[in-house]
Amino acid sequence: MSRPHAVLIPYPAQGHVTPLLNLAKVLHSRGFYVTFVNSEYNHRRLLRSRGEDSLAGLDDFRFETIPDGLPRIDNEDVTQDIPALCTSFATHGAALFRDFLVRIDDGRPPVTCVITDGVMSFALEVAADKGIPALVFWTTSACGFMGYLHFFELIERGYVPLKDESCLTNGYLDTALDWVAGMPGIRLRDFPSFIRTTDRDDVMLNFDGREAQNAHRAQGVILNTFDAVEQDVVDALRRIFQRVYTVGPLPTFAVTAARARPELDAIGGNLWKEDASCLRWLDGRQPGSVVYVNFGSITVMSPAHLAEFAWGLARCGRPFLWVIRPDLVAGEKAVLPEEFVAETKDRGIFLSWCPQEEVLRHPATGLFLTHSGWNSTLESICAGVPMVCWPFFAEQTTNCRYVCAEWGIGLEIDGDVRREEVARLVLEATAGEKGKDMRAKATTWKEKAVAAAEAGGTSTLGIDRLVGFLLGGTD
Ligand code: UDP
Repeated sequence: MSRPHAVLIPYPAQGHVTPLLNLAKVLHSRGFYVTFVNSEYNHRRLLRSRGEDSLAGLDDFRFETIPDGLPRIDNEDVTQDIPALCTSFATHGAALFRDFLVRIDDGRPPVTCVITDGVMSFALEVAADKGIPALVFWTTSACGFMGYLHFFELIERGYVPLKDESCLTNGYLDTALDWVAGMPGIRLRDFPSFIRTTDRDDVMLNFDGREAQNAHRAQGVILNTFDAVEQDVVDALRRIFQRVYTVGPLPTFAVTAARARPELDAIGGNLWKEDASCLRWLDGRQPGSVVYVNFGSITVMSPAHLAEFAWGLARCGRPFLWVIRPDLVAGEKAVLPEEFVAETKDRGIFLSWCPQEEVLRHPATGLFLTHSGWNSTLESICAGVPMVCWPFFAEQTTNCRYVCAEWGIGLEIDGDVRREEVARLVLEATAGEKGKDMRAKATTWKEKAVAAAEAGGTSTLGIDRLVGFLLGGTD
């Protein structure tokens, strides 16, 4: 019998490429031949940020591309238009993937399974036509996924779309629901942000609602989480879907996989070039003293909000490491107030992309000011670092709710951020009773994340079950 061959297709954004690549490494270390499918646009970016070697792959771990259907943009280091990307793949993805499967029928082992991103569900119907088992990998938290799964029910029950713009500010979003499986008391404001629309035809509301429902067509759902941290939601998902594989934290498993197959180490998926010099800067700081500030790969803010964060960091008096992506500020280059840079030059550094997991695990890092993307949240949990959350969009609002209210390891900043609040929350989280409590809880969650990935841990078993299923078993 020939070798099992897994094809993995991430949605072309950093927070999706990374977890799928980690899963690909895990499967490779378990004997799979891997084909990893990037968009052409991201492939070019990876070549620029990581060099040829990172994408040369191995004889049995290959990178391939499909077009994303969007017009070419001149600056290759910018985040693409998310609604346009979603629409393009929903429209053209199936045809592209059908051609793709023909193209890779070139002497490599026949494809035995497809693992497609939860929001790239077009691959499911193509795989079904060809009789290939296919699973979806939702790269969100379980609670975020559960939120998307309820989009259409929220519409049917009349909660969404919002009647008018006033619903955003008049307390309507504080409405608590008691019928969402595994999430009692969840408020409208905790749902993925795409419900905050007055338009029934809103692109993202419909796209994510539909993609979540399409998970029913997959033979299983994979989640980068671990049972203990989202137990009620995971249990509820297991009542909805026959097969739910919780395999997180995937970065931990990817490290183990690379230990078994060191050649996997050269394979990386960062779309921006990492600046590791900050690790040396961290070496010179007191343990737990540094506020690490990073809003992920997609967040865009106004120049005014950037200035509020800056002056908030100035006020709190803590050392900080601030990652400012070149396209962080809407429509323009991010420019920090000169007086702020001068005032904080002895205790702050700025860079455009860092090796985040290493920064979070550095003993000097004491707090993460984050946009609450799921990968960032999970990486922070794994490092035992509490958070101050400024959710930007999508299920970041849901993650923020869990971080702050369920796990007790975060404080939320208001969407219309003000410098006084930044300073107050950073100080609250680093000094005083609340900070102490958050750090203790963060340590406990970190221990649970470690336990999930140990021999016999829930996620180790999740990976075993997933591999068993992909190899043709029943589970
Ligand atoms: N990341 C990184 N360096 C940076 C910023 C982000 O390595 O300077 C990584 C981060 O570790 C995480 C991912 O990019 O794995 C961001 O994913 P997340 O889900 O947190 O947010 P998104 O970018 O999708 O909003």
